[in-house]
Amino acid sequence: MEQLQGKTILKKIAIGKVFYFEKTIAEVRRQKIEDTVAEIIRFERAKETAQEQLQGLYEKAKEEVGEAEADIFQVHSMMLDDDDFCDTIINYIHAGNLNAEYAVAKAGDEFAEMFASMDDEYMKARSADIKDISERLLCLLSGVQRDGPTLTEPVILIADDLSPSETVQMDKSNILAFVTRAGSVNSHTAILARSMDIPALIEVKIDKAWHGRMAVVDGYQGTIVIDPDAVYLEELRGIQERDKQKAEAQKALIGQKSMTKSGKEINVYANIGTVSDVAFVLQQDGEGIGLFRSEFLYLESKALPTEEEQFLAYKEVAEKMEGKPVIIRTLDIGADKQVDYLDLAEEENPALGYRAIRICLTQTEIFKTQLRAIYRASAFGEIAIMFPMIISVEELAQIKVILESVKIGLSEQGIPYGDPQIGVMIETPAAVMVSEELAQEVDFFSIGTNDLTQYTLAIDRQNPKLDHFYDAHHPAILKMIQMTIENGHKGGAWVGICGELAADLELTEQFVEMGVDELSVSPPFILSLREKIRGLE
Ligand code: PEP
Ligand code: MG
Repeated sequence: MEQLQGKTILKKIAIGKVFYFEKTIAEVRRQKIEDTVAEIIRFERAKETAQEQLQGLYEKAKEEVGEAEADIFQVHSMMLDDDDFCDTIINYIHAGNLNAEYAVAKAGDEFAEMFASMDDEYMKARSADIKDISERLLCLLSGVQRDGPTLTEPVILIADDLSPSETVQMDKSNILAFVTRAGSVNSHTAILARSMDIPALIEVKIDKAWHGRMAVVDGYQGTIVIDPDAVYLEELRGIQERDKQKAEAQKALIGQKSMTKSGKEINVYANIGTVSDVAFVLQQDGEGIGLFRSEFLYLESKALPTEEEQFLAYKEVAEKMEGKPVIIRTLDIGADKQVDYLDLAEEENPALGYRAIRICLTQTEIFKTQLRAIYRASAFGEIAIMFPMIISVEELAQIKVILESVKIGLSEQGIPYGDPQIGVMIETPAAVMVSEELAQEVDFFSIGTNDLTQYTLAIDRQNPKLDHFYDAHHPAILKMIQMTIENGHKGGAWVGICGELAADLELTEQFVEMGVDELSVSPPFILSLREKIRGLE
């Protein structure tokens, strides 16, 4: 039995086999091949498997993020079948006695270059798709993992590090736990693990030799035990069973109000990252979506998601929530959430840099596309919009001008839209200090305690060395929350909390006493929070 310590992200037990996920890039070497027929067959087999993978990815994406988003895999499938492309590869193998890997890489580069040099923007963009297809073939030919691991059974996934986009693309149904060497408890990857209700440990000295061995992840103690003995296994199975019974007992709270004994009702909403999270929210009886981190649509995508793709995603969430509120947070990209296609420059201090609303107010076309999609979806449910990283009333004034132009554009085209509530996230000390003025301009506030803590305590939430200093209960933060609630109410805005602190049951009573109207938490915490509220006076 081997035991290692890490930091825990979710207090739960996982028992199962370890799967080591290694991110590797296929290395291509030029080799002379004698048996070119066998090499061509090897290429044809890789192509067949690639087609199966693409079909699987299409089905998965269709279910999780909608048909429009999934279409890219159909495009890849068609390109992979393109005669010119395949004949070029076969010709290199046959005429040049070359290995399949080299032939694929060579043809891939040539075709990608050819597309890139075209004038038509659509054709130009296909260059990235060709590169993607040839990488897929190369990985298959050289046995390298791609698209995250293909999991055929539930496993404890270990990796050096996982990015938010890798995490969100994983097949959740086959993941028992995440264990990584890197990471920080307040990172978005950690937040995602929490929202998936999957125990996770970070900062563990993982070893790839654990691959295939039995392990236990103890989210209470922050440990992973490899090759557990029978006594330990039995003890942990007992705790797992107790957790299961607790979750079962909490089901009695489904359909009940989140109301204190004296009759004060708090809206218990959920934080989500993708459309597929909604099923879990409904299962846990979430009363609304308090934070839809829309940037995950952008992180899952290889190019900026179109208006139509976004519209379909937002509409699907609104419809699935059947009239319950859905608060969509506009694009909050930058800092730890990066997408290649935006080509954001590296910055000395990314958390204090070009991110979130700052990008939207600079690259207004991106912003307008998203707002049009949200407004269109607002005709299909109870959608609200909120803006991240706000520091001033002036920013809000600029946003309102853009909102107006978007509405005018839709009206002129005769496209219907609803009347979404408008809110701002309070996640900078500046926003707290001007909350009295901001409240005059909006319907609601949502306090983002993750960033508010980062910016107030001057602690980078991504830096694991600082986790020890990150005091989520710091009096400065609690005073800021109190002040925001008071100022919000004074100006007629309702006030919620959507940072991780909203799920901290030690603070629920204080938040209720401060007058908070809504708490938005990861779906696994909904019923525990309701239970806590119902126990308060
Ligand atoms: C926050 O900062 O508290 C928040 C909810 O936003 P995010 O964690 O996505 O930055
Ligand atoms: Mg934030």
